[in-house]
Amino acid sequence: MSLQSAVMQNNPLLRHIVATSGDQFQGISPIPTEAVAPIPISDDTDVKNAVSYARQAFELWSYTSMSEREKVMRKLQKLVMRQRHELLDVVQRETGKARAHALEELVHVVMTARFLEKNAADVIKTRSRNGAVPFMTKTTVNHMPVGVVGVIAPWNYPFSLAMIDTLAAIMAGNSVVLKPDLQTTWSALNAVRLLEQAGLPEGVVTVVTGDGPSVGKALVEQADYICFTGSTETGRAIAQQVGERLINASLELGGKNAMIVCADADIDRFVDVALSSCFTSAGQLCVSTERIYIANEIFDAFKSAFVARAKEITLGSHLGWGYDMGSITSKEHLERIVDAVKQARSEGAVVECGGNVRTDIGPLVFEPTVLTNVNRTMEISHKEVFGPVVYLTPFSSIDQAIDMANDNAYGLSASIITKNMRAAGDIAARLNCGSINVNEGFAATFGSVEAPMGGMGQSGSGRRQGPEGILRFTEAQTVSIQRGPTVSRKFGQHDKKWGRRMVLKVRLMRGSRLR
Ligand code: NAD
Repeated sequence: MSLQSAVMQNNPLLRHIVATSGDQFQGISPIPTEAVAPIPISDDTDVKNAVSYARQAFELWSYTSMSEREKVMRKLQKLVMRQRHELLDVVQRETGKARAHALEELVHVVMTARFLEKNAADVIKTRSRNGAVPFMTKTTVNHMPVGVVGVIAPWNYPFSLAMIDTLAAIMAGNSVVLKPDLQTTWSALNAVRLLEQAGLPEGVVTVVTGDGPSVGKALVEQADYICFTGSTETGRAIAQQVGERLINASLELGGKNAMIVCADADIDRFVDVALSSCFTSAGQLCVSTERIYIANEIFDAFKSAFVARAKEITLGSHLGWGYDMGSITSKEHLERIVDAVKQARSEGAVVECGGNVRTDIGPLVFEPTVLTNVNRTMEISHKEVFGPVVYLTPFSSIDQAIDMANDNAYGLSASIITKNMRAAGDIAARLNCGSINVNEGFAATFGSVEAPMGGMGQSGSGRRQGPEGILRFTEAQTVSIQRGPTVSRKFGQHDKKWGRRMVLKVRLMRGSRLR
């Protein structure tokens, strides 16, 4: 069955959703020629049931061997590549993004599945640690799955963000209840379908649907761990809820990412890197660059090259290849972007290019927009736009550039463009961000799936990707086996003798291990 026909009502994909309320959501494709089939909506009881099914599935899945889990990852990589054309259609239909940007989602999933296939077993295997008494205490650490993981995903990268955390959670032995954004449920359903085709037993990943404040909140109420990706505002609400329940969560939140272009930068070479860092997925990307600080010496040259190239970006709003940048995903979000630019203008920002909705190309297409004359009192200087809008500001010293980059509550991603790698290292060490790209926009760290990715400050807590991205879905359990004399003091035992023994033990330890 092709996925083209899969976006029809009564589609078999709908069996992955636990929804009995009888209510439906009718999504609207940002691409005017495309239709999206309605989605049934879950209610609180459905969420409870979904978590309880997931708990049953967990009982079996948590006992599967790592080689069985690896088999699923291996097959998944093949399936994603084989079915890529159909999957790209679904992602484009729901988000309106350019096909090349949709493809990046698929590649990210394949790279993540490969990393997990090759490394998860080693990351979560039981390891020995030094025990309380050398040679007498044998201590090991197990990494136990947490149980049912609630994955709450946004609409901007609907295939990859439904998948990558889910894959790490199931490789650690958990089951998952996934709540995608309503706008992009079909992308998530296709992710779950592929997992089952890859051999994942039914029920290990289930889906609930509905709006965040009701269905998302109900999931946070029921799951054993929450993996949330979305806005800082929602992240804060979820943090309160999980705090109350005393469960763990990883929160992957917003950003206002800066790029620093040093005086020695090769403008011809890096102007396109900067453009793609700002305008991939029409800027609807958490790690996208929204502010560029450029050394005074090259500010004019960089600005004219950047603006000239931004004007050449081709726009489109149809399924398939053939354009550089696609649509904004929803009418509401487009309105927010339009308002942000209007507000910046009213506060004195200069629009160097863009700033217009291009209904001649598609109903939700917004031009790549470059602003100058932005200062720190303006809202746009610190508030995430999450659209194709960037401002350029000159700096007179690296210290000033670093101060401006750090003058923000977020701390997700940053980039540095320079020929001097030593200087890049020094700047990176002074930036308060979870990911730093040197001579790249965001793609270098984003694509480094073996390394952790996440935010500091208001950009969240916890890390996805790398070993850290697997271990967050586990509870560490320490098992110590005591041989020979016991560690603890028997009540009634001669305390001075015991004290002498303890001092001797500490001396021995220092001699053998702590020197
Ligand atoms: P959002 O917070 O509005 O929604 C994200 C998800 O949370 C959706 O599924 C939504 O239904 C759900 N939700 C909303 N309110 C909820 C609640 N009270 N309880 C539980 N779930 C709730 O975010 P958005 O507008 O869809 O996404 C855009 C934001 O996501 C941007 O700020 C962007 O920077 C951020 N983002 C961050 C990353 C990252 O890795 N750090 C990746 C992608 C997007």
